[in-house]
Amino acid sequence: MNVPYFDLKMQYASLRQEILDAVDRVCKNASFILGEEVAHFEQEFADYCGVRHCVAVNTGTSALHLSLLASGVGPGDEVITTSNTFIATAEAISYTGAKPVFVDIDPATANIAPQAVEKAITPRTRAIVPVHLYGRPVDLDAILAIADRHKLSVIEDACQAHGARYRGKRIGGFGQAAAFSFYPGKNLGAYGEGGALTTNDDAVAKLARTLRDHGQVARYYHDYVGYNYRMDGFQGAVLRVKLRHLDAWNARRRELCALYRTLLAGSPVQLPQDLPQAESSHHLFVVYVQNRDAVRAELEKRGVATAIHYPVPVHLQKAYAGLGHRPGSLPHTEHACNRVFSMPLFPEMTDEQAEYAAKTLLEIASRK
Ligand SMILES: *Cc1c(COP(=O)(O)O)cnc(C)c1O
Repeated sequence: MNVPYFDLKMQYASLRQEILDAVDRVCKNASFILGEEVAHFEQEFADYCGVRHCVAVNTGTSALHLSLLASGVGPGDEVITTSNTFIATAEAISYTGAKPVFVDIDPATANIAPQAVEKAITPRTRAIVPVHLYGRPVDLDAILAIADRHKLSVIEDACQAHGARYRGKRIGGFGQAAAFSFYPGKNLGAYGEGGALTTNDDAVAKLARTLRDHGQVARYYHDYVGYNYRMDGFQGAVLRVKLRHLDAWNARRRELCALYRTLLAGSPVQLPQDLPQAESSHHLFVVYVQNRDAVRAELEKRGVATAIHYPVPVHLQKAYAGLGHRPGSLPHTEHACNRVFSMPLFPEMTDEQAEYAAKTLLEIASRK
């Protein structure tokens, strides 16, 4: 049996007419940049997340950047975040002129460890950027309490957490702002690049809206040196179609993850733990094994494609060599990155594929 790691073509087949109609509307109105489709999407996504504002932009990285800027982060500031993430989390901090301060993960959840955050606070600390890694919400009670005690902003990296919930409430409005990515492979993916920030803060929304469009406050009146971070009309139109299916897709992801869990229970394969008060968006199903590379090679041979999120933690990337980290500086993060890999997961995957993938992994991991 062949189990692809991921497949977007099947999804298009099921949406084709809706998508073509949406794209046709954009062409007929010639609203290729922002425009009414993007404005409708912003309203619909804000409603979905249960927040006051959504500002649509061109990438998740831009959404993070604008969330930080609009929350007042700038040169000389320190921003505490996790190194167990995609590099964009740190890059967005660097773009503002602030310094990313990486702290270790809680080895049980693989998310940022609140105790480590508190220890890293200095007089320069301005914000915390927790990442809901693999779609699994971080311990927001603890992070928000720390932020409150030390008067810090919280910018959620929700780029993998579309539709995830914490204490029954959707991710997107817990901190000053949350950043989402609509990269095609995300749970809610555009047909190109896309991103958005969500917030309940009117001032943050207003500033982000201005900064995404060259700092413009009225046509050709620029109060700030801004950016060209606008969302395309096509992406807004496609995202509106796909948003209507997000809950069904996430529910199917949840079923597949439950199947994986059942089949892998009691095996040497380890899984990151979820918090009882959090409901994941099930963006990725990651596992931890010894001899990760050998296990993956054998899976590949037997038709099961996998991926690694992420092989090198951000603090050990050459790009951040200037921060002076060495192997061993964030031991739990490094240990996770050395053993982690991601199993196939997408809503169109069949139960048979998930069963085959899990059983094959079980067999290989029990032997190694
Ligand atoms: C995808 C992702 C981003 C960046 O999103 P882009 O849309 O690719 O810019 C940032 N952080 C995390 C955790 C992501 O998974």
